[in-house]
Amino acid sequence: TVYFIDGQFTERDGLAISIDDRGYYFGDGVYEVIKVYGGELYTAEEHIDRLFQSATKIKMTIPYAEVQLMEIARELVAKNNILVGHVYIQVTRGSAPRMHQFPDPTVPPVVTGYAINNPRPMMGIENGVGVKSVADVRWLRCDIKSLNLLGNVLAKQEAHEAGCIEALLHRDGVVTEGSASNMFGVKGGTVYTHPVTNLILNGITRQVVLGLCEEQGIPVVEKSFTIDEAFEMDEFFLTSTTSEVTPVISIDGRPVSSGILGPLTMKLQKAFSSQIPSFIAD
Ligand code: PMP
Repeated sequence: TVYFIDGQFTERDGLAISIDDRGYYFGDGVYEVIKVYGGELYTAEEHIDRLFQSATKIKMTIPYAEVQLMEIARELVAKNNILVGHVYIQVTRGSAPRMHQFPDPTVPPVVTGYAINNPRPMMGIENGVGVKSVADVRWLRCDIKSLNLLGNVLAKQEAHEAGCIEALLHRDGVVTEGSASNMFGVKGGTVYTHPVTNLILNGITRQVVLGLCEEQGIPVVEKSFTIDEAFEMDEFFLTSTTSEVTPVISIDGRPVSSGILGPLTMKLQKAFSSQIPSFIAD
C-alpha cells in the first residue's frame, strides 16, 4: 500500500509519525472517507469541502488547496490500483510537546492518507441489518468530523456486543444518528430524519439520498423523532459513505414493521445504485 504523508507518497515501511502528534495525544484533527467506485472518486468535492469546513470549525488551516487534496486522493487511488474501496484522509494540528493549548508558534499540520480496496457491504445492503439503541453521550459539536471518536467507538462496541451492525443513538430519547451513519425512518410514505444541527454529522450520503427523494417525488421531513416513534416506523434505514443505503430491519431485536425490506427503501437503493459510477463492475 502506498500512503501519503507530509507531502510524499511512501510505502508503509517508510512511514514515520511523531509520538508528539496532536492527533495521537488529543484526537486534535479532522478526517474524511471518500468512496471509490470503478476506480473513480465518488462525491469527492463534497467530502473535501467538508474536510475544510471541519478544519475551520476547530481553528485549523489545512496547508493545501482543495484541488491539491483532490489530486492527492486521485493519486492514492491510481498508485494503489483501487477499483472499489475508499480513500482516507486525515489532518492533525501537528506535532508539538504535549500541552492542551494550540502550539505557539504554529506547527505544520500533519496530512496523511491512504486508499484501500473494500467491497460494497452487499450482505447488509441486500438483507438489512439490526441496530441497538444507545444513549448518545457525545459532545455538542457532532457536526465536526473530528478524530475524537471515543463516544462513537463505545456506542459501536455496545451495538457490536449485542450482535448489531450499528448503534441507534438518541439524546434523551430523541434519535440523532448512528455511530458512523445517519438514520432515517419512513412513515406513511414520508421520510423522516434529524435536521442538520450541531447534534449530527450532515452525511454526504444523507445529502445524496435527500436529493434522490426529491427526484423521486418522495416527501421528506427533516425533523427529529423519538426512539418510541422509531419502533412504529413502516421502514427504517441508515446511510453512510461505505454502507450506502442499508435497510434496518430490527431495533433492539424488535422487527421494524414486518421485518422485511420496505418498498421505499428499495426504491432509494435502486436510485442510489444507478447514480454511482460503474456500479455494475462490482
Ligand atoms: N454520522 C457519523 C457520526 C459518521 O461518522 C458518518 C460517517 N462518516 C456519517 C454520519 C455518515 O456520513 P457520510 O455519509 O458522509 O459518510
